[in-house]
Amino acid sequence: MTTGIVFDIREFAVHDGPGIRTTVFLKGCPLHCSWCHNPEGQSSVPQVISGAGASRVAGVEYTAQALAAILNRQVAVLQANEGGVTFSGGEPLRQANFVAEVIDLLEEIHILLDTSGYGSESAMNLLLARVSMVFFDLKLIDREAHRHFTGCDNDCILRNLAVLGKSGVPFVVRVPLVPGVTDTDANLAAVAETVRGLTGLLRVDLLPYNKAAGGKYRAAGMEFKPCFDEARPLNINTGIFKKANLEVHVL
Ligand code: SF4
Repeated sequence: MTTGIVFDIREFAVHDGPGIRTTVFLKGCPLHCSWCHNPEGQSSVPQVISGAGASRVAGVEYTAQALAAILNRQVAVLQANEGGVTFSGGEPLRQANFVAEVIDLLEEIHILLDTSGYGSESAMNLLLARVSMVFFDLKLIDREAHRHFTGCDNDCILRNLAVLGKSGVPFVVRVPLVPGVTDTDANLAAVAETVRGLTGLLRVDLLPYNKAAGGKYRAAGMEFKPCFDEARPLNINTGIFKKANLEVHVL
């Protein structure tokens, strides 16, 4: 029996794919992005989150059958609202066998994989064979900058992006705009160049940096140490993508 660790199940989510969705947040992420707004998703083990006089444990172990049973109870409502189930994180590829088994137990429903792309090619293919759509985060194209700001190089991310582009699964590339880091014209131009022409690409979404991230670190007993200037104005240069004939949205 496959088990997985989930740190949240969010119902009635409206920003995690088409329609109204239930989003499952898988615990554990190999990256340590300096701007991460889900710090409780980084560690793969349960941890206590404190705040407003109460505390909770982020990280619950589920069997695939138990999680699928919870999700299947919501299928009728999700279908009626043209939505579905989203697997996010953390990084779902890290628990790909568990996610695949849950999907195999689900009734017919739209499935979205929200991934950083960091994982093995076999994990990527395992989930691509089962999902309806992908949100693929693309942060930095420069390998050394990626290593500096996330703790990992981007070799397997770019490899998995190419795998996704050949899979036929429709996808959205999502770029977190971090001031002075990912929002530079050079990085945005490199992102546009990298994704241009990939089969299945629906659009590029730009996600402006969320300054509220710091509070979640304190609650998780972690220290927020952004290695960039949070106060620097964002460069939201949609023109780079339009010039490359790419549809671009700012969220
Ligand atoms: S990939 Fe996402 S979950 Fe992982 S550290 Fe970066 S922002 Fe956080």
